[in-house]
Amino acid sequence: QLEQKVHGTSLEINLNALAHNFHYYKRQLHPHTKVMVMVKAFAYGGGSAEIANMLEQVKADYLAVAYTDEGIYLRNHGITLPIMVLNPSPESFPLLFTHQLEPVVYSFSMLQQLGAFMEDKESAINIHLDCDTGMHRLGFMENEVEQLNGFLMQHPNLSVASIYTHLVGADDDHFKTFSQNQLDTFSRMAEQICSTLPDRPLLHALNSAGIINFPQSQFDMVRLGIGLYGVEVTGKHEPQLLAISTLRTTVSQIKTLPEGSTVGYSRKGQMPNGGKIATLAIGYADGYDRRFSNGKGHVLINGQKAPVIGNVCMDMTMVDITGLEVKEGDQAVIYGEGISLKELASSIGTIPYELLTNISSRVRRVYY
Ligand code: PLP
Repeated sequence: QLEQKVHGTSLEINLNALAHNFHYYKRQLHPHTKVMVMVKAFAYGGGSAEIANMLEQVKADYLAVAYTDEGIYLRNHGITLPIMVLNPSPESFPLLFTHQLEPVVYSFSMLQQLGAFMEDKESAINIHLDCDTGMHRLGFMENEVEQLNGFLMQHPNLSVASIYTHLVGADDDHFKTFSQNQLDTFSRMAEQICSTLPDRPLLHALNSAGIINFPQSQFDMVRLGIGLYGVEVTGKHEPQLLAISTLRTTVSQIKTLPEGSTVGYSRKGQMPNGGKIATLAIGYADGYDRRFSNGKGHVLINGQKAPVIGNVCMDMTMVDITGLEVKEGDQAVIYGEGISLKELASSIGTIPYELLTNISSRVRRVYY
């Protein structure tokens, strides 16, 4: 509440709900299947240090971030779990090494640069191999495995901790056959790589939706992301997950406008009959997407639905509260507690991932 007053907008994160969701996914897995949790992009906007801290308490096995500095941030906050880094730049290899972060290696040029960096090191570094089975963003293709094996044999201090692939659409039944083919390709690639390694690495392929839709392909570990944060993307197990976050802001001012008024930039908000508006302390610089302008989005104030009127501004948004019971200083729910993130995202043609990760750093995160 205090934090809320300092700045009008806050993201409230329920860490117990997060723990609940973690255990929910654990129950879907074989007892020996490990869980890597994706805490990249500031843990999907929720705050990676606090969330990683909770993940250590509930005994997650691994964490993953996209970039080296995201991993360093976690180490600087005392996180000791192993951390995989999906896309580290070669310039960051020295930092990776000193912070005991584990790079994904996805190309020969990267292998060469990492091999050269490790040449004079006495210890080994754990690496993770990305197999491109159809996503076609990063990773080794099946026809490159032989060459890969040759390289790895010559560089014993690149220690393969895991081999993985990523499905293009585990949440969508349209891609079931494609995904199954990816999993089959992955099995072949992984076995071929494993056949020349001294120790068997962990194999993993499934994201949150994959855990639900491809339970037979858990391999040794899964990579849990959006589901942990309370968004069930397959639509199959929705009621079992708890929402973990609420984005809330404050009514700064209320105005009664005469007939024919317009609201905001470019006179986009039209009030031909006049009415009452409330100005909220949130804008696109906080991550409230400008596409919510003019009725595309709505907020809940004291349980009442108030549509956005006019264009969302950088730091403020106006909503139409004609006929509603609202006073200055009231709180408005942007999502959570009655506004589903999935519906909100689809109202502007995007996905919950984008809304979550766009909540900007100036929005205070409050944990309970
Ligand atoms: N694995 C990889 C390689 C990813 O990039 C992501 C997320 O983008 C995930 C797993 C987690 O996916 P989800 O959030 O859908 O569970």
